[in-house]
Amino acid sequence: MYMPLPAQPGLPPVRIDLYSDTHTRPTAAMRTAMLAAEVGDEQYGDDPTVNALCDRMAALLGKEAAVFLPSGTMCNQIAVLTHTRPGDEVLCHETAHLVTSEGGGASALSGVNLLGLRGAEGQFDADAVTEALRPRTRNAPPQSLLSVEQTTNIAGGAVWPVAALDAVAATAHGAGLATHMDGARLFNAVVASNQPVGAHVRGYDTVWVDFTKGLGAPLGAVLAGTSTFIGAAWRWKQRLGGAMRQAGMCAAACLYALDHNIARLAEDHANAARLAAGLARVPGLAVQPPATNLVFFEITDGRFPIEELALRARRAGLLVSLLGRNRARACTHLDITAADVDDAVSILTDAMKAG
Ligand SMILES: *Cc1c(COP(=O)(O)O)cnc(C)c1O
Repeated sequence: MYMPLPAQPGLPPVRIDLYSDTHTRPTAAMRTAMLAAEVGDEQYGDDPTVNALCDRMAALLGKEAAVFLPSGTMCNQIAVLTHTRPGDEVLCHETAHLVTSEGGGASALSGVNLLGLRGAEGQFDADAVTEALRPRTRNAPPQSLLSVEQTTNIAGGAVWPVAALDAVAATAHGAGLATHMDGARLFNAVVASNQPVGAHVRGYDTVWVDFTKGLGAPLGAVLAGTSTFIGAAWRWKQRLGGAMRQAGMCAAACLYALDHNIARLAEDHANAARLAAGLARVPGLAVQPPATNLVFFEITDGRFPIEELALRARRAGLLVSLLGRNRARACTHLDITAADVDDAVSILTDAMKAG
């Protein structure tokens, strides 16, 4: 889905980086917390900072246990490996990260079918789940897992209402499927909805949160579930080479992020709204109103391809990403101020004008 900009010689440095909230750099205070971390051998369960992070995340998410992993992709892959057997089918939205952005990992590693459900803004309802259920016959693939994304990434940073999450989870459980939440940006949903994290995740057997998106840490994600599930997930962590050593230095950054970088996500959402309002005034651009920190826009009058707009912006020091044939994404985060947003609006305004 992410498409590279054409290589161009002599581009100036990026001044305003709206490519992704993964582009944040750890702050001085976060680095100080990392330096002070107590560490041990994580692979043997002996890293006290990793253990503190996992205990805190399990409590926060209302699950029995949690495991620290290097990336969100590994959380999704290990969750699918642990919940399913080869030949099973996993239900998720057709735009899910699992489908679009994990290198075909679910089929390569777990040997599962991914069944992409449809619905607006990366969401689907309980009826869509019911319609997708297959008879439990020998010829139908056994359906064992349903996965949702909160917030939805490629579909626009939308927030599933808690009632919709509950209804979908109840339908899946009623049909004997386990439920999984890709909570890469779960805290964006928590802040935007003003609903406690527990309300978002209560219907989901497993859930993970990424620390490298809006939370601003350099590395790490935490997957939570029952103790039995996390025990089995540990086997896959070991097999895949995700068992680490003095990982407490990274877990310390995640703990720092939990203390300092959740409530401030509201600033990213306000900046995204500011950006969207600015871009909505640019002739020839249509903007999807953002629910959180992801702003999607497209060129409505075909004056030039969206790649051309992105390239013109890049020449002026602004980096955005391309996520479709006529779809660009600008993402606000910890390293972006309201002034940067205003700059970005004027760069894109000029870029749309220039002949
Ligand atoms: C970023 C992202 C992932 C993958 O996380 P990484 O830490 O980059 O591996 C998975 N799901 C969603 C919705 C994401 O946005």
